[in-house]
Amino acid sequence: MGRVYLVGAGPGDPELLTVKAARILASADIVLHDALVTPEILRTVSPKAQMVDVGKRCGHKLLTQDEINAYLVHAAAHYEITVRLKGGDPSIFGRAGEEIEALREAGVDFEIVPGITSALAAAAAARVSLTDRRFASQVLFTTAHRRSGAISLDWTRAITPNTTVAVYMPGTAYAELGNTLLSSGLDPQTPCVIVACAGRKSQQVRWTKVAGLEKLTGIPAPALLIVGKVARPEVKTITADMWQQLRTGVLPNQPQITG
Ligand code: SAH
Repeated sequence: MGRVYLVGAGPGDPELLTVKAARILASADIVLHDALVTPEILRTVSPKAQMVDVGKRCGHKLLTQDEINAYLVHAAAHYEITVRLKGGDPSIFGRAGEEIEALREAGVDFEIVPGITSALAAAAAARVSLTDRRFASQVLFTTAHRRSGAISLDWTRAITPNTTVAVYMPGTAYAELGNTLLSSGLDPQTPCVIVACAGRKSQQVRWTKVAGLEKLTGIPAPALLIVGKVARPEVKTITADMWQQLRTGVLPNQPQITG
């Protein structure tokens, strides 16, 4: 019986893989990966590994979750190193819970290798701090999940003016999302940033406010929405003169070297 690794691939750039994930991918015998995993990451996998795409395309599942669970248990019986490779972190909106349960029930040895989740990659891309202490005291990782076609945000009551909200799978109905946020009492002027394809060459960063979400269109997938006071666009206040002063000036509190 081999070992199964639930590995986080991060947002897409191979440089954002953990060293451990890279090592395991380079020695894998079989890799079951999601659609979110980029070709750049897949190129780091051992050439001897069998590759199985278990992802979802346009809402159409290649394999059901039960089939993936069964596949993992089966692979563990036949291969020494089985990798279940997921975008971002495997445990964040990654259905790892069901896979962990199936592996536990089957008595399969497994390990979780965390990855950089897209909320962190998106914040880095937008160059904001999710917990900037001047504006936020908590971060909520959530999703705009849909039940019977309508967006249902069961988390809106958890938001305070000092909450940063990272919305995974925001979908394309930003207007509906914006309206739901407004009806939950959020200030229409609350800043928002949407980062598409964070950590990839095609990365896009769009700034708006909750009131402006209704006008948002043409955002490519995958995208993540950050809502909260920390999501303020950078303001370029440093002039060429100020740079010159910074370069030639003495840093505050810099010890004076004498003698
Ligand atoms: N396990 C993943 C999340 C899977 S859910 C993680 O930890 O990141 C899929 C959602 O993740 C997408 O709908 C999108 O909201 C977000 N996502 C994944 N990769 C992304 C990326 N590179 N840029 C922006 N959002 C991304």
